Amino acid sequence: MPNILVLIRLSTHDTVDAHATALLAGAARLGTPIAVLVTDGPLGDGTIAALGRAGAAEVRHYISPEVDSALLTPMVDALATAAADTAPVAVLTENTIDGREVAGRLAVRLDAGMIVDVVDLRAAEGRAVATTSVLGGSYTVESAVEGGPLIATVRQGSLEGPVTVTEPEVRSEALPVSAVPSAAVEGVSETPVASNRPELRTAARVVSGGRGLQSRERFALVEQLADALGAAVGASRAAVDAGYVPQSAQVGQTGVTVSPQLYVALGISGAIQHRTGMQTAKTIVAINKDPDAPIFDIADFGVVGDVFTVVPQLIEKIEADRR
Ligand SMILES: Cc1cc2nc3c(=O)[nH]c(=O)nc-3n(C[C@H](O)[C@H](O)[C@H](O)COP(=O)(O)OP(=O)(O)OC[C@H]3O[C@@H](n4cnc5c(N)ncnc54)[C@H](O)[C@@H]3O)c2cc1C
Repeated sequence: MPNILVLIRLSTHDTVDAHATALLAGAARLGTPIAVLVTDGPLGDGTIAALGRAGAAEVRHYISPEVDSALLTPMVDALATAAADTAPVAVLTENTIDGREVAGRLAVRLDAGMIVDVVDLRAAEGRAVATTSVLGGSYTVESAVEGGPLIATVRQGSLEGPVTVTEPEVRSEALPVSAVPSAAVEGVSETPVASNRPELRTAARVVSGGRGLQSRERFALVEQLADALGAAVGASRAAVDAGYVPQSAQVGQTGVTVSPQLYVALGISGAIQHRTGMQTAKTIVAINKDPDAPIFDIADFGVVGDVFTVVPQLIEKIEADRR
């Protein structure tokens, strides 16, 4: 089986989160998943066991005192070192700002092809074939790299799959101080987040509101449904432009791309620029008073009705079921 390298970033308290598990599941479709990690000290038994539960057949662990100071360079060094040793068919990172930067720099070093924002992966004739969603989501394209590994950044929330629990073989080694010049982190300050809601980009459930919500005050209905479902709050650009919510909540071509298990669109028409940011959601529910709204073309469940009538009933039902 070909080797597949997966860059794992541990979450707070050294846990292996759902996104790391999804990357390893994607790797398992292509070959043998090898987790690559960089830390500044030894790996705990709990972390190794968690990587095994997530399906890592092998763990390549690199120790670097620079991991928190040399901006991403240790990750690129670690993947390049592991690649020299394992001749992988593919290297997977998350499609985050960091993941894309690591992948880009690695692709230059390995002189390899790179595909970003991959939503699916499959193996074909010993190669890794990546699916991307293009032209506002109107087409899906399958691509593969000729003559070298595929470096792919994988959209969060897009992959899942059966996990084979393993007891991974672990190789730990010190990573030499990089010969490559690197930007250095000089200080870190925490910005307090005022919300307990999940982060939009990675949330399993998203409730978004559009111009149909009519005002900033009435947009609170979107937040109430989000809280009832334990979801993140998103919005269309029209809702952002009208000042109902900050730009950070915008879903779509010029906003955030999400791929949750559940996406609820309230008072959103479903313009192509919005759809491009959410149409890979597993289940889409739309509530709109216009039966011809294009959002219904991609919705799994649609309610033709006024959000101010339907949503309060929905919240009441969810809360009653919970009691
Ligand atoms: C270059 C470019 C980039 C763009 N990027 C983005 C992007 O990233 N994200 C994005 O979202 N848009 C983006 N847009 C804008 C996009 O084209 C649409 O204008 C926008 O998505 C429309 O937002 P909307 O659906 O909230 O508003 P509208 O299109 O005005 O739709 C409002 C909907 O609410 C319904 N409605 C009204 N009242 C109610 C009610 N009481 N109950 C139920 N339904 C009701 C209406 O029937 C209608 O369907 C971009 C446009 C351009 C040109």
